[in-house]
Amino acid sequence: MDFYAIPFEDQHILYRPLRRLAFVGNAGLISYVREQQAGRSGGNEEIDTFLDSVGFWRPGLSCDPAPNAEDVRPTQAVLLMTNRCNLRCTYCYADGGAAAKVEQLAWEPAKAVIDAVLANATDTENQQSGLTFHGGGEPTLHWDLLERAVAYVRDRSPSCSISCSSNGVWSDRKREFICEHFDNVSLSMDGVEAVQNAQRPSTGGRSSFSSVMESIAGLDEGEVDYGIRMTVLPESVDQVADGVRFLCENTSAATIQIEPTFTSSRGTYADLAEDFADAFASNFMEAWRAGVAANRQVYYSGARPWVVSCAFCLAPVKALCVTPDAKLVTCFEVFSGALPQASPFVVGYVREGRVEHDVPALRAFLAETNRRRESCRQCFCYWHCCGDCMTRREVSAPMTSGRCRVTREVTRQLLASYIAEGDGVWMGIRETEQGESP
Ligand code: SF4
Ligand code: SF4
Ligand code: SF4
Repeated sequence: MDFYAIPFEDQHILYRPLRRLAFVGNAGLISYVREQQAGRSGGNEEIDTFLDSVGFWRPGLSCDPAPNAEDVRPTQAVLLMTNRCNLRCTYCYADGGAAAKVEQLAWEPAKAVIDAVLANATDTENQQSGLTFHGGGEPTLHWDLLERAVAYVRDRSPSCSISCSSNGVWSDRKREFICEHFDNVSLSMDGVEAVQNAQRPSTGGRSSFSSVMESIAGLDEGEVDYGIRMTVLPESVDQVADGVRFLCENTSAATIQIEPTFTSSRGTYADLAEDFADAFASNFMEAWRAGVAANRQVYYSGARPWVVSCAFCLAPVKALCVTPDAKLVTCFEVFSGALPQASPFVVGYVREGRVEHDVPALRAFLAETNRRRESCRQCFCYWHCCGDCMTRREVSAPMTSGRCRVTREVTRQLLASYIAEGDGVWMGIRETEQGESP
């Protein structure tokens, strides 16, 4: 059974992730539960009544397995547009904008990928299709292709959802176009003005704050669905909550994602140091409380007790992601098939307008994802974090890494908050007249 005892203050949080159930208890209660699990009856009426009343022994939620590689039919087209960028973020995972050779996606592979996902969406009982612009640079700099892809998709499938990840440094014309045509925008912005300008300067070291705030105002005015993603460095970790308060007061963003940096310098992945991991976790929780007070969803990707999944990320099975060199990859951050770390992520290519899957390569990737997840069985985040993001795991090891330290501590603190809100018990599955409701 999915049961974990998580040290908390001088007691433990008893946690059943598949029942979204958590409460605080002592070592005696843990032993009692383990005895019952082993089939040895405890016979303590008071404890039995409590465990029954919270549904402790009831079956948990089921977790759908990942599809087999040969059955994968992605319905989301992800276009990795260009390695050019108008910012020079100090922590950029891709060293965006600095490459000697400009790489840009061509129309032919972009169209092939769009056609494939629209066909898959039609074949698989009309699943919602999507088109996303991403990249190892700023996708809106490859504007001609972006406009062409949007027009093509709107013509072929008006219901297709269109979105992008962007730094928000747009001209007036681009802003108007995005507000008119996009269903969702994920906008990177690091909080208060001083932090944004220090961490996300534009080329030549100029500030980016005003330009991004103008774009946010445009999104608000156009009532576009958007979320903000903040990246935190050791130098800015004390200003995370101020950043969230600022965004709550000055924007209508419904979601604010906060992530600790995973690079040590531009283009170099690295794990988090222990003291930064701890500082991030405590400042994140303060920011989370500020978000709750302002009715916003503040989250960090690894700590999500509300999720039960077979993998950290479903991009390998839901997205058809194409690089400027026309490779199909399983991750939005692998922006070129020529990167030294790209090989395990490459699962096909587009040639002469045809999408060619490499099924054995995808099978190997999914098997490795699963192997890594299984190595996390003992972790109470197993059902939510599932072994972490495939790119981050290159620089982290289960349990002992800085990233795991953050994920586990934030999850533990979230559970403690839910328990406090629930007067001693978090029961995330409710009884309704129709049965149980997650
Ligand atoms: S993080 Fe994004 S916006 Fe910043 S330099 Fe890299 S690609 Fe450009
Ligand atoms: S593997 Fe990680 S970085 Fe890549 S798309 Fe998934 S969540 Fe994003
Ligand atoms: S051990 Fe680390 S990677 Fe594995 S589930 Fe736990 S937090 Fe995630």
